[in-house]
Amino acid sequence: MASSSIVARGALPPGFENRLYDPAEALPRDELSALQLRRLQETVERAARVPSYREALGRAGVSAADIRSLDDLRRLPFTVKDDLRRNYPLGLLAVPREQVVRIHGSSGTTGRPTFVAYTRRDLDTWTGLVARFLVAGGLRPEHTVHVAFGYGLFTGGFGLHYGIERVGAAVVPAGGGNTPRHVRLIQDLGAQVLICTPSYALHIGEVAAAEGLRPDDLALRFGHFGGEPWTEELRQEIERSLGILAFNNYGLSEVIGPGVAGECGVREGMHVQEDHFIVECLDPKTLEPVPEGEVGELVITSLTKEATPVLRYRTRDLAALDRRPCPCGRTGVRMGRVVGRSDDMLIIRGVNVFPSQVEEALLRVDGTAPQYLIEVSRPGALDEVKVKVELRPGDLRDEMRQMIELKDRIDREIHAVTGIRMSIELVAPGALERSPGKARRVIDHRKAAVA
Ligand SMILES: [Zn+2]
Repeated sequence: MASSSIVARGALPPGFENRLYDPAEALPRDELSALQLRRLQETVERAARVPSYREALGRAGVSAADIRSLDDLRRLPFTVKDDLRRNYPLGLLAVPREQVVRIHGSSGTTGRPTFVAYTRRDLDTWTGLVARFLVAGGLRPEHTVHVAFGYGLFTGGFGLHYGIERVGAAVVPAGGGNTPRHVRLIQDLGAQVLICTPSYALHIGEVAAAEGLRPDDLALRFGHFGGEPWTEELRQEIERSLGILAFNNYGLSEVIGPGVAGECGVREGMHVQEDHFIVECLDPKTLEPVPEGEVGELVITSLTKEATPVLRYRTRDLAALDRRPCPCGRTGVRMGRVVGRSDDMLIIRGVNVFPSQVEEALLRVDGTAPQYLIEVSRPGALDEVKVKVELRPGDLRDEMRQMIELKDRIDREIHAVTGIRMSIELVAPGALERSPGKARRVIDHRKAAVA
């Protein structure tokens, strides 16, 4: 698999100079643990100023003084998205309102929006964390960076923006807007680095190709992508279509935004910035730790966030942790890519299926674009799944026989990956809706409200 990537992973890419932005990224583990413990005690103290945390800590019978080792983390109560909703808009604020200098929020696609706040020191911390993963992934002061994240309540745009400036690179805050305009700006301003969601990076590649541009016509060399789960196959697809190295990063607004974890040049997992966050990997049902290296739900405790600290925040993101040392010298535990969300998981005829599995299957089939939509319904007693798959431009000239073969091939791959038979519908290139934000991959007609 790695051979089709433009650079094999597991080693630093040729000409890639591994550089730390902050020596704290390579703290020896014992020093890191001591720092985490001290900061955890401070965080519990800070959280206890918030009425709803004070109550939860009281119910759990634990206070800052009871935190004597990192194992005591497990005595702390969990925080869930609903706690943020219940405390709408800023009931979880742990500092006086006049110390707040920024407010971000998450979209309200599955309910009320939620807000998080930042003090001046929080913004400084956040900017430094973003600068760390950008530098780990090759950003240098001489680069020009095209940011195609929206600028708004969403943390992606502003989070990356200030991190890029901190490194000293030139930022093009292109924001939303139409894709041909992005392609033109990237070309005219000679950006070497692209920042957006992975699905949007692929779309930029499609539009550039449709305009007759080859990867060599753009100065782009690498990209930092985040904001939604993606697969290794999609990484290779983006790398091929734009002629770049694609780096993965991770974060969520409830915790701070982008900057919780990011890939180094080795690109085998994202280093969690453990001097600022403790990450646990738990079985979402039992809430007990999963065996080492297995996929579980990430649960994150902030260690330095002042305005809206979080204790054991259940992210719903499913990923594995890798505690083996990394050749780059960073000591932060590495998290694997997010393979799904514990609440995105579809249960089809009793089998757990993640949209990312369908994507993985489609990317194994030449001739299809990785644009798809899964429609789930229950017309009778059984769940039925239809997958609409876009053809690549050019395939419409093909013979009917080839189309049937393609459908069969997709059917077989999806069945191999998920164990489920789904009905396949091929649709014209460009027929599925594109979005500059998170791509919509599932419509579940079984639910009254669409997730
Ligand atoms: Zn590394």
